[in-house]
Amino acid sequence: MSTTTRREFLGRGAATLAALSLPTQMHGEDVPAAAPLEQFEYGQVQLLEGPMLEQFRHNHALFLGLNNDSLLKPFRQLAGQSAPGEDMGGWYSPSPDFNPPKNMTGYIPGHSFGQYLSGLSRAYAVTRDPATQQKVHQLVAGFAPTATKDFYSDYCLPAYTFEKTMCGLSDAHQFAQDPSALAVLNKATDAVLPWLPEKALNRKEMAARPHKNVAYTWDESYTLPENFYLAYKRGAGNRYRALAQRFLEDDTYFNPLADGHNVLPGEHAYSHVNALCSAMQAYKVDGSRKHFEAARNGFRFVQEQSFATGGWGPNESFQKPGSNGLADSLTKTHSSFETPCGAYGHFKITRYLLTATGESSYGDSMETVLYNTILGARLLKPNGISFYYADYSNDAAKMDYEQAWPCCSGTFPQLTADYGISSYFRTPQGIAVNLYVPSRVTWKQGSASVSLTQETSYPRDNETALTIRTDRTERFTVTLRVPAWAGAGSRVRINGRNAELHPEPGSWLKIDRTWKNNDRVEFTIDMPLRLIPLDAQHNDVVALMHGPVALFALHPVTGTIPKPALLAARRASTTSVDWHVATDAGQITMRPFSAITTERYRLYQST
Ligand SMILES: [Zn+2]
Repeated sequence: MSTTTRREFLGRGAATLAALSLPTQMHGEDVPAAAPLEQFEYGQVQLLEGPMLEQFRHNHALFLGLNNDSLLKPFRQLAGQSAPGEDMGGWYSPSPDFNPPKNMTGYIPGHSFGQYLSGLSRAYAVTRDPATQQKVHQLVAGFAPTATKDFYSDYCLPAYTFEKTMCGLSDAHQFAQDPSALAVLNKATDAVLPWLPEKALNRKEMAARPHKNVAYTWDESYTLPENFYLAYKRGAGNRYRALAQRFLEDDTYFNPLADGHNVLPGEHAYSHVNALCSAMQAYKVDGSRKHFEAARNGFRFVQEQSFATGGWGPNESFQKPGSNGLADSLTKTHSSFETPCGAYGHFKITRYLLTATGESSYGDSMETVLYNTILGARLLKPNGISFYYADYSNDAAKMDYEQAWPCCSGTFPQLTADYGISSYFRTPQGIAVNLYVPSRVTWKQGSASVSLTQETSYPRDNETALTIRTDRTERFTVTLRVPAWAGAGSRVRINGRNAELHPEPGSWLKIDRTWKNNDRVEFTIDMPLRLIPLDAQHNDVVALMHGPVALFALHPVTGTIPKPALLAARRASTTSVDWHVATDAGQITMRPFSAITTERYRLYQST
């Protein structure tokens, strides 16, 4: 056993790990690098009781309970077919009231159907619940006759909706073993192709073409390649690879990003993070080094303008570096971060970058977004009312979106189904633990059948306990992510004894040993209080962090709070998630986003 820095971690395991740090120097243009980390199958990771499992169960049950005729109605209506069932309303059902941007009722009929289908397919892969698989198969069969080009006639966002439909059908095939999903996908692809542009177009290019109203300039053809590549990998046919390549937004996005130019400012936030996932698929499938560089640089530019919560893109827009954009947003908008969509995209791109590079910082970033954004999202309601924007303004509150069934109602169930596969990864020598969440992962290690069970109330407490169960003694490594913010007091005990291991912040800690049944690892993560400034121009405007958790000050908060006072915050009680800060004007209570309900709050304090 030894402490292992990332460099050593990379150096130790032969070819697959050697590819880890600098794939650009290791591989030719058309040879994808071997991934240092690999995803588990959905069914291999089970969440145990805790807030993530609650969100997953809630979303699973809600979509399982929706009426199939209502889900299929906009497709049947627009294809000119008999369309029984109630309207779902909001963005989902066609409406004569649609008048963008003033009235968004009836905005994109059926837009999120594919995401609901995807969420159910992934939920089936996690749970093996027969009713969920049956519903997926019924929805695919019900959708099939509507996959005609009539659906897209006069439709403002054909690429946007098709990208989600494609994802749903592809997932139905891959995760719910739907026997007809790929055939239906081929039919749906034939239906949409006449309505797609010749290449990926950004909003400026869309605006330069004739359009009936502004919504027609918002289509997102540049997000298509990720799911085209996935469909190709899953056997939908060679044309999907060609289509993926055709819609890579190279000229205005990936080429400059790959060259290190930050072209994010002014771009729509979520869809351009999502587009980075297309670049990563171009790397994974085609071995394109350029697209790997574009994704890595693009994500770095996103991080450089993120809030302390890990969220980004106030008013759904990227800011100009060095500008007052983030600071202005604290007083000028309540639409600070598009939470379910943004967190879904963030989990995907960090999972892709983490598996491709092995760099633990991507896990840190995913964890920050988990605890400070999506775990604090209000639950989706059966009528489609959804949490959309997190509010980081100086006088903030949690609110739902005014329209039913928006984009965020589609990404939320996909993300909660992805929680498990985001928590652990396969390494060539064993397993990497990325998220410290109540869960169990099961895998084959050599000839041994192994499971690892995590029991934890992290990050409220700073410890997680991992128990190995194995049907035979086996040597392998359990690799733990040590967050970059971790303090010097982090430590590991094995079977109740202090281990001679020194967790190094911002790296992986590798525990290489011969594991016996019921071996138990206790990992204590030192979680110091620290301050994160808003940005380089505003060092005096800070968020207080406890480990990965941002602490929001509950109103009333007036005047400034000196930095030493913030850093002297004390827990309200040993079991509470609240913290108290003593100021001249009295005591202020600070609380994590996930514990806030109706209180007014502020993320950033003036010091
Ligand atoms: Zn959204």
